[in-house]
Amino acid sequence: MKHVMLLSGGFDSSLGLTKLVKENGAENVVAIFFNIGQRNFERENEAVKWFTDKYGVKLFVLDLPVDRTSKNEKPGRNPLMILKALNFIRSKYEDDECTLYTMDEWCHTDDYKYGYPHRDFSVSCDVGDYKGLMTQLVEGETSGKVHFEMPVKGKSLLSMRPWLKKYNYTLDDLQHSISCYAGTNCGKCYACGKRKYLEDVVFNKDAAPEFGWDE
Ligand SMILES: [Zn+2]
Repeated sequence: MKHVMLLSGGFDSSLGLTKLVKENGAENVVAIFFNIGQRNFERENEAVKWFTDKYGVKLFVLDLPVDRTSKNEKPGRNPLMILKALNFIRSKYEDDECTLYTMDEWCHTDDYKYGYPHRDFSVSCDVGDYKGLMTQLVEGETSGKVHFEMPVKGKSLLSMRPWLKKYNYTLDDLQHSISCYAGTNCGKCYACGKRKYLEDVVFNKDAAPEFGWDE
């Protein structure tokens, strides 16, 4: 069984990669990173390589021509990546059963209470039964040889505290990840707001005391 993580270089997917490696062993984990023409491609690629080198995970970089010139994510972008990734997996690991993982569909209700920035735009995974549709796509296209998982569906960032400890994902790891819509840590965009929230609240065990570090 191959465990395939769609890796962007940000916190979510690098945490997902860490989880998969600790649970399944690096030799059974594969990462896919997309070149979609993003402005941060070089920096994201560097971050992705930092994580895959750290764990000794095989990395594939795939090209997908999606317009990423506007500052926000494009609705519909993620399903295209999933479709491209699963076709790649089938060609590469014809005889193996695989599971494809994305870190979409957080539920931020708890996070908003502690200053997590509201977003005024929606992405693919916010719409309808995204997981059900993607599961149909992935399993249907591969006759059930590839499975689909969304490990953080319905979870808040704050609820990731036990994962950080369990899988040993550190502040140093967070600081090697990259996500900024404007460029290099602009401090103003949604992604930078999320990073500040992660550093201030999620990694700071004294904040938000009703969520126990050891739960
Ligand atoms: Zn930014």
